[in-house]
Amino acid sequence: MELSELYTRFQACNGVTTDTRRCTEGSLFVALKGATFNGNAFAAQALRQGCRYALVDEAEYATEPNIILVDDCLHTLQQLANYHRRRLGTRIIGITGTNGKTTTKELIAAVLKQKFTVHYTQGNLNNHIGVPLTLLQLTEKDDIAVVEMGANHPGEIRTLVHIAEPDYGIITNVGKAHLEGFGSFEGVIRTKGELYDFLREKGGTTVFVQHENPYLNKLTEGLQCVYYGQEPGLYVSGEVSGCSPFLAFCCTTDGQTHEVQTHLIGTYNLDNALAAIAIGRYFGVDAESACRAIEEYVPQNNRSQLVETSANKLIVDAYNANPTSMMAALENFRRMEVPHKMVVLGDMKELGEGSHEEHQKIADYLMQCGIERIILVGNEFANTCHEGCCYASVDEVIAAFSQNKPEGYYILIKGSNSMKLSRLPEYL
Ligand code: ATP
Ligand code: MG
Repeated sequence: MELSELYTRFQACNGVTTDTRRCTEGSLFVALKGATFNGNAFAAQALRQGCRYALVDEAEYATEPNIILVDDCLHTLQQLANYHRRRLGTRIIGITGTNGKTTTKELIAAVLKQKFTVHYTQGNLNNHIGVPLTLLQLTEKDDIAVVEMGANHPGEIRTLVHIAEPDYGIITNVGKAHLEGFGSFEGVIRTKGELYDFLREKGGTTVFVQHENPYLNKLTEGLQCVYYGQEPGLYVSGEVSGCSPFLAFCCTTDGQTHEVQTHLIGTYNLDNALAAIAIGRYFGVDAESACRAIEEYVPQNNRSQLVETSANKLIVDAYNANPTSMMAALENFRRMEVPHKMVVLGDMKELGEGSHEEHQKIADYLMQCGIERIILVGNEFANTCHEGCCYASVDEVIAAFSQNKPEGYYILIKGSNSMKLSRLPEYL
């Protein structure tokens, strides 16, 4: 079936789903395959659950008129998304970077909502499936969209930008993460730069750039740059004025300075917030409204959030960890002027050959941070020279906390998702 004809079917549906547990009446089911499942086998069930059409890519499952056989469902999903995006012509801001994509995306959306109807990536749906699903949710009503794009391997951002065809771009930062997949730090930089490459080819496009980032600034040739950062005189500049525990900063733009008191934990969020204000200003949101939008934003997603239990105050950042974000989290924690600090740090995964060295650097830095109790979890940290108690797994930490529950601490919890440190809060 021609793409245009498939698109007509999509238009007759209200929404797209790839998961039969989330079929809504009248939606389009797209059968994807994973390591342990074959979505094709669920196509007929999806129709029974109310889907209007289902796309499959294995002929034996095309058993009903409303089950449409295509060559490759994932590719078709991506093509449909691109077709839809082109047809609507919505202005799209593409966002990538090693750390801070989701937070910055949320902040940009909060600021732009002051003036526009904004569509933006829900949660962390930032890969080859999430990006097309995000685009297919675009409607005529949306003035502007913010699309998060993530990558673990070279070439992945190139694929995503060709689906989303953004008009504007922001790379939050480049850091050491997924080094196994990227091969090297240079691989990380090149991959993030694929967003800029696309915009450069498109011509005359604007990117929003953190001014002090030496890597990003090498990549911007031929692009129109709007700068934000700490140096005075930029389009938007700012500096931290407090972080105990929430980030406060002052922000100067257009000759006016504004004090901003956020609900975000982490001085690293200064850049994320300045990026959002710069983008808002660029699209005509006045500085006062942009700053208020940042103040009112309360994270709900376990990122940069403070969780108060009856016994402790927790900074739960257990969703991802890499050397750059780990260091940023520790630097912030070090700067926080609060009593009784404790950290529970889990191994950082996917670092390949440099893993031991990166864990050692964190262990070394930890000793300078003046933290009362240090708990390390995982083999990589166990193999470093460190100060602190080391446990093999989160279960052992839970057992220790169950016997002797810490009380009255500010506790930073950070590690790779697979270390499962997100289980800890209920024991604290
Ligand atoms: P993912 O790759 O999982 O999608 P992300 O890039 O969307 O991550 P966030 O979820 O916004 O990033 O933030 C994850 C963590 O990265 C934060 O909790 C914080 O520790 C760190 N972080 C956020 N912003 C920055 C920044 N600008 N610089 C360095 N580290 C940051
Ligand atoms: Mg994210």
